[in-house]
Amino acid sequence: MNCQECVERITPAVDHYLRGSEKVWFEHHTLHCPPCRQAFESERVIKQFIQQRLPMVALPESLARALSALLREGGYLGVSRVSPYQVVQYQAIPH
Ligand SMILES: [Zn+2]
Repeated sequence: MNCQECVERITPAVDHYLRGSEKVWFEHHTLHCPPCRQAFESERVIKQFIQQRLPMVALPESLARALSALLREGGYLGVSRVSPYQVVQYQAIPH
């Protein structure tokens, strides 16, 4: 894995989406490559900061229903591929 491939996997790594050999390669590369390790740590710290500072807010039920319908129409509800390396579950939670 080179630096370009490593950088492309930083966000999935921060979100704990890397699996198997890809995860091993990423951890090996960041262990031995200070710039990539720094980039990974920066994104991890920023995400952690945001999660700690921004509270989760429940949607009003009407908005949650409308959003769910839009996501379903667009094929986004359920499992949706958002990058070559991660799969994210989308679910609008009613109030
Ligand atoms: Zn690197």
